[in-house]
Amino acid sequence: MYERILIPTDGSDTAERAVDEALAIAEKFDAAVETLYVVDTDAVDVTLGTEQVDRIRAGRFGEMDDLEARARDATRYVAERGRERGIDVAEHFRGGQPHRVIANVASDHDVDLIVMGSHGRSGIERMLLGSVTERVLRSTHRSVLVVDEREAE
Ligand code: ATP
Ligand code: MN
Repeated sequence: MYERILIPTDGSDTAERAVDEALAIAEKFDAAVETLYVVDTDAVDVTLGTEQVDRIRAGRFGEMDDLEARARDATRYVAERGRERGIDVAEHFRGGQPHRVIANVASDHDVDLIVMGSHGRSGIERMLLGSVTERVLRSTHRSVLVVDEREAE
């Protein structure tokens, strides 16, 4: 049923919880798994010069150690959990607006399921959904599984 699964991650605990659920599904359906970390160029605009932002948009943020380390930590978690289950995970890093990039990568790889957390790093408790997840739901016709780590009230 599911042949290609995309797991966007910002490295947060909620995203990691979604990773475990996504990989269990991938294992069951023998699906290919892509994972993606997006450097949010809107969020970093304030502190970076335009040249750096252009470099990030082009996916060339390797020179910026902290950004690269955060991205790699996030996707490596997915790759390692996948390896434990014998699943090959392709890691992707992009710059841009997270929801747009997630929707684009989903269509580039023609995934039939996107699995993501209800919340991320900024995790505002009172909100039901984080803005990235909400926007992804509005930006794609593909199936999205939203994993919420909080207990139902
Ligand atoms: P907000 O960002 O609106 O303040 P939040 O951080 O709590 O709220 P989201 O950013 O919507 O919530 O995160 C929800 C899920 O979206 C994460 O669990 C992750 O799966 C995905 N996600 C969020 N940001 C990124 C990103 N930069 N790259 C890849 N996936 C992301
Ligand atoms: Mn967020």
